[in-house]
Amino acid sequence: MCDNQTVKTRFAPSPTGFMHIGNLRTALYAYLLARAQGGSFIVRIEDTDQERLVEGAVDVILDTLRMTGLSYDEGPGVGGPNGPYVQSERRDIYKKYAEQLVAQGDAYYCFCTQERLAALHDEGGLGGYDRHCRDLSADEVAARLQAGESYVIRQKIPLEGVTSYYDEVFGEISMENKEMQDQILLKADGYPTYNFAHVVDDHLMGITHVVRGSEYLTSTPKYVLLYDAFGWERPHYVHLPLLMGQGPDGKVSKLSKRHGAVSFQDLVNGGYLPEAILNYIALLGWCPKGTNQEIFSLAELQQSFSLEGVSKSPSVFDYEKLNWFNSEYIKALPPEEFAARAVPVLADICPAGTDLTKLAALLHTRVITFAEIAGKVDFVAERLPLDAEAYTNKKNKTTPELCLQILQQVRPLLADVADWQNDTLFELLKQYAADSGYKAGAVMWAVRIAVARKAVTPGGATELMEVFGREESLSRIDLAITELGA
Ligand code: GLU
Repeated sequence: MCDNQTVKTRFAPSPTGFMHIGNLRTALYAYLLARAQGGSFIVRIEDTDQERLVEGAVDVILDTLRMTGLSYDEGPGVGGPNGPYVQSERRDIYKKYAEQLVAQGDAYYCFCTQERLAALHDEGGLGGYDRHCRDLSADEVAARLQAGESYVIRQKIPLEGVTSYYDEVFGEISMENKEMQDQILLKADGYPTYNFAHVVDDHLMGITHVVRGSEYLTSTPKYVLLYDAFGWERPHYVHLPLLMGQGPDGKVSKLSKRHGAVSFQDLVNGGYLPEAILNYIALLGWCPKGTNQEIFSLAELQQSFSLEGVSKSPSVFDYEKLNWFNSEYIKALPPEEFAARAVPVLADICPAGTDLTKLAALLHTRVITFAEIAGKVDFVAERLPLDAEAYTNKKNKTTPELCLQILQQVRPLLADVADWQNDTLFELLKQYAADSGYKAGAVMWAVRIAVARKAVTPGGATELMEVFGREESLSRIDLAITELGA
C-alpha cells in the first residue's frame, strides 16, 4: 500500500446531467481528504459512455466546483502532467493495456453479436454473459480479427477463489470470483468501459485514494483483480455511505427528485448559498471528532476532516436542516454582501422609488433562502387588497375608527417632514402619540397597516415608510383614509 506517499485523490464524474448532491459530496470528501493532508486533488471527466453524454454537463460540473471553491491541481482547464483529463481524449491509451491483459491471459476477445447476447438474456440467462468466447483458440481469434469481425475485450475473472480488498470505511470486502461477470473492458466502438478506464487512469495519474459512492463497493473486487493482473499497487478505497431522502410518508429511500431539489444548481436557484450547501453536505456522512461544531468554513473543514469520522450508515438528507444552515449563513453575511445579492432580486419586483438597500437590510435576518424574498415583499411590489378589520388589534386596542382618526391627524404632520428617514419619522410619531394621548403602539399600528396593507411585515411603520419613500407612503395613507372613511 501507499502509506508514505502524498495523498492524491480525484473526482471523476460522468457528464450525464446535472450535479447531484451526492456527487458534490463525493467531490468534497475527495477534496478534503487530500487537502487535510497537504495532498493533491484532481478532476477527470469520465465520458466514455458516449450514449449517456449530456451537452453542457461538463460546464455544470466545473461551474459547481468553482462556485463551491473546490479547487483542483490537475484537470480540465487547469492541465497537468497526466493529461488529458477527459477520457474521450485518452481513447488511444486504453487499447494497449487491454491487449496487454489479453497477451497475459487475463482478458480475451469476445466476438458475440448483440443478437446472441440478447437471446442469452431472453432465455433467462440471469448469470449474464456465458463466457462463450473465453476459451477460443489463438488461431481462431487471429483469423476472426484478420477477417475484421467486430469484437470486445472482456476481463477473464478466475473461476474459483475469493477476491478481497480493504475499504477504509466499510472494512474488509470479499467476493467469490464465481459471482463476478467477465465484464467488458474495451467496447466494440473502441472506447473503454468505465470499469476499465478508471482503473488505468487512476494508476497512470498516481491516485492513492479512490473516494466514491458505495454503489461501487461490490464492483471493486473486479477492479482490484485488474490492478493485480497489471502488477500495479492497489489504491486505498474510500466508499461513502448512501445518501437517502425521506418521503412525506416517512419512508426512506435513495435521495431522488421525489424528495425535493437534488441538484446543486436547483438548490442555488432555490435561494441556497453554495457555502451553506457545502457545509451541510460535509456533515452528511462525516462527523467531526470531539466537538459539536456545525458551522464550518471550507478552510475549517480542511483542517478537521479525517477518514475516522466517515460513517458507513446511510445519511438522510434533511431539508429543514439545510434551511437552518442557510439562514445561519445568510445572517452571517456582511450587510453589503447580503444587499448585493438581494437588491437585484428586489429591483425586479419593487416599484421605482423604493429604497432597495433599506428594504434589503430589513429582510437580512428574516429570510431562510433568497427565494423567499419575493413572497416577503409582495406588499411593496403592489398595493394589496385590505380589509378594514386588519386595523383591529387587541394588544394596542385599535379599531378601524380609531385608526382613521390617527391617520387623519398624522397625515399633515408627515407631509411636513423634510428629512424622510426612519429616525425622524419615528420621533415624530412618538411625539404625536405623547401629544394626542394615544398609545404609541396604536399609532404605529395604524400607520403600518395603512402603508403596508399587510399584517405581518419585515420592519415597523417608520422603517417601511423610509423604504417606500415620501410620495408612496403619503399616497398609501391617503388611500387608507379614503377607504376607512367610506
Ligand atoms: N464516473 C463515475 C461516476 O460518475 C465515477 C466513479 C468513481 O469515482 O470511480 O459515477
